[in-house]
Amino acid sequence: MVNQFDFRLLATDGLARRGQMTTPHGIVQTPAFMPVGTQGAVKGMSVRDLRENGAEIILANTYHLYLRPGDRLIARRGGLHRFIGWNGPILTDSGGYQAFSLGPRRRITEDGVCFRSHLDGSEHLLTPELAVDIQARLGSDVAMVLDECLGYPAAEDEARRSMARTLRWAARSHDRLLSLRSRTADHETDVDPTPVVINPGQAQFGIVQGSVYPNLRRESADATRAMDFDAYAIGGLSVGEPTDVMYEAVAATAALLPVDRPRYLMGTGTPLDLVECVARGIDLFDCVLPTRNARNGQLFTRRGPLNIKNARYAEDDRPIDEECGCYTCRRHSRAYLRHLFLAKEINASTLNTLHNLHFYLDTLVRIRDAIVFGSFESLKKTLHQSYSLRLLAHDADD
Ligand SMILES: [Zn+2]
Repeated sequence: MVNQFDFRLLATDGLARRGQMTTPHGIVQTPAFMPVGTQGAVKGMSVRDLRENGAEIILANTYHLYLRPGDRLIARRGGLHRFIGWNGPILTDSGGYQAFSLGPRRRITEDGVCFRSHLDGSEHLLTPELAVDIQARLGSDVAMVLDECLGYPAAEDEARRSMARTLRWAARSHDRLLSLRSRTADHETDVDPTPVVINPGQAQFGIVQGSVYPNLRRESADATRAMDFDAYAIGGLSVGEPTDVMYEAVAATAALLPVDRPRYLMGTGTPLDLVECVARGIDLFDCVLPTRNARNGQLFTRRGPLNIKNARYAEDDRPIDEECGCYTCRRHSRAYLRHLFLAKEINASTLNTLHNLHFYLDTLVRIRDAIVFGSFESLKKTLHQSYSLRLLAHDADD
């Protein structure tokens, strides 16, 4: 019995939404944060760690898995869930973002993104259809359409051309998924011996582009909605634009999206970004910040960020965050964690990542509770007190 993709709105507080997203591999309480598992693993974390920390859905990067070990190899292992040992929901990106990030090693045509592998220099053409096929072979619960990612700033005519191309690609992606689904139903094997559809309940999200131009965002949202995707993402933000510009674009775009589908803001952000974008109607987030910063020794606490390298922690017996209930904080002192970090112990990455992910996931728990109890505004103020942007460069105790 396959769960069909579904979203229910349970409560609202202002524009903030408390919901429940059902996927073939389980339910996700929203607003939700998705830890990023680039290579089919959240760096430093076992799936047991992720579960114990309360992660309900993880993100995997299509670009990396396509190049290594290969989506067909994963399909032959029964799909991504079985391959990585995580039986909860998985969202895969389209692979486009990483391909675009390759700079001079990629070229965009109407067909798709032509790029050279960062691993062996081999040439690949990632088309909207191929992005659908790869994600079908991976069998993720949510697949993203291939979109064109523009940097910031982008001139309006460039943003328009790019947005229009993303719309054409979205239509091709949608058609491709429909044809894969009907192919399964007809038991056609096609020329490809690989079982193409690992997860028949896989949802497909469309992506709204348009840079920071409200008219383009509106055009993109209207046309993407007309294709009737399972849900909608906001792409092309957190690419270097000022924070207030991003918040404005998020608010304007979220307002154009259907109330009864989840809204996913791609690749964002800081703890403040999460609460500010929930306040503008966003339901799903992903970001490498908690995991990457953990590996660099920057830890998030309820009192603000803390840099474990700092000499002042050399003989500090307190946990990272006295209010945190994570394994690391229950068990270890700042002094020990600082020592592990300086000694370059693998455990430093694992223990720091456990804590940072717990902080993010717990922040989302607090946000969800606050929406239900009508206290979201006051939680937002509390988070602002500990996480003004200026503070991010400093220490919790400064
Ligand atoms: Zn902790």
